[in-house]
Amino acid sequence: MTEPIKTDVVIVGAGPIGLFAVFELGLLDMKCHLVDILDKIGGQCAELYPEKPIYDIPGVPYTTAHGLVDALLQQTKPFNPQFHLGEMVESVEKIGDPLFRVKTDQGTEFECKIVVIAAGGGSFQPKRPPIPGIEPYEGKSVFYAVRKMETFRGKRVLIVGGGDSALDWTLNLAPLASHLTLLHRRSEFRASPDSVNKMMALVGEGKIDFVLGQVTSLSGSDGQIAKATVKTNEASTYEIACDALLPFFGLTMKLGPVANWGFELKNNELIPVNTESFETSVPGIFAIGDINWYPGKLKLILSGFHEGALMAQKAARYVFPEKRLVFQYTTSSTSLQKKLGVAPERPAAAPQRAAAPAS
Ligand SMILES: Cc1cc2nc3c(=O)[nH]c(=O)nc-3n(C[C@H](O)[C@H](O)[C@H](O)COP(=O)(O)OP(=O)(O)OC[C@H]3O[C@@H](n4cnc5c(N)ncnc54)[C@H](O)[C@@H]3O)c2cc1C
Repeated sequence: MTEPIKTDVVIVGAGPIGLFAVFELGLLDMKCHLVDILDKIGGQCAELYPEKPIYDIPGVPYTTAHGLVDALLQQTKPFNPQFHLGEMVESVEKIGDPLFRVKTDQGTEFECKIVVIAAGGGSFQPKRPPIPGIEPYEGKSVFYAVRKMETFRGKRVLIVGGGDSALDWTLNLAPLASHLTLLHRRSEFRASPDSVNKMMALVGEGKIDFVLGQVTSLSGSDGQIAKATVKTNEASTYEIACDALLPFFGLTMKLGPVANWGFELKNNELIPVNTESFETSVPGIFAIGDINWYPGKLKLILSGFHEGALMAQKAARYVFPEKRLVFQYTTSSTSLQKKLGVAPERPAAAPQRAAAPAS
């Protein structure tokens, strides 16, 4: 058994609000680990609308969702947050006052003083394809994400879908697989044209197969798939021998394990918090961003930023109970500027803002 990772704060969710929380907690000297089920940073901004414009970030008249995530990530850099992507937080257990044990579905374990739930609308989870009897193969030879490419070396791989994930993994796994087939129900793709062109080039070179049709059933034993039956668009049926099936049918947001962490949820999906510190009914566990509820809540990014700032003030009182909090501005505090790694323009000037533990 590996030792738990000990840290001040575990943030559940690496969306925009989890990212800004790293900054506010960092200014007050708290170290963060972030866990996200997605294999990328940015939550809804990265997964649902990366190229769409955003016009209501204070002081930023125009950015894209992708641009915002990049800027937030840049802002967290001085605090060196640790990311655990492709992992879902399954349990949060209170083991002290406050001290928590947090476990992920990949076996990572943390011991932390503060838990910040920034889980948005819940965890992004893959949509299951409509193939009867797929369940026994899931996690054994049917995979909805590629965690380690090596798993597929020398295997006969069948990839299903027409979006970016299906095409990206087709291109990445083609050199490793002993044989690779891409199956899609139509000849139009939602993936980037460049990926489609590269895939077609591999087909042209005879390195992979591309088939139009849909999987109707699977056969195999003990969770190990042996072949997939495919109905082509011409209504003929044939079989593709394969060792692994990778269906990429998109993602859906589900509240997921958060529902089992003992909170009395508002409308079965939101965690009630107070508006002084955005703390939940459990001292030391905070909920910020789209996942929380309080009277007047607006699911806007700017609301989550404000919530993160107030959350950090209260969190610091738990993590540094002996320290006096001093309100400081980043503009004028040499101590905050030192943490940010920026050179102060002139010696420290009063007045000060945002509380930071006085050392
Ligand atoms: C199309 C669209 C346009 C939008 N435009 C705007 C706009 O213009 N302005 C604006 O202010 N807002 C906009 N929003 C809303 C905005 O995107 C959300 O308010 C914001 O993303 C909330 O951020 P968050 O960090 O709270 O949650 P999210 O962005 O949802 O991130 C939460 C993350 O937590 C992860 N997670 C959840 N549970 C777990 C778990 N158990 N383990 C591990 N990871 C977990 C999820 O996978 C996800 O990545 C828009 C939303 C959409 C869909």
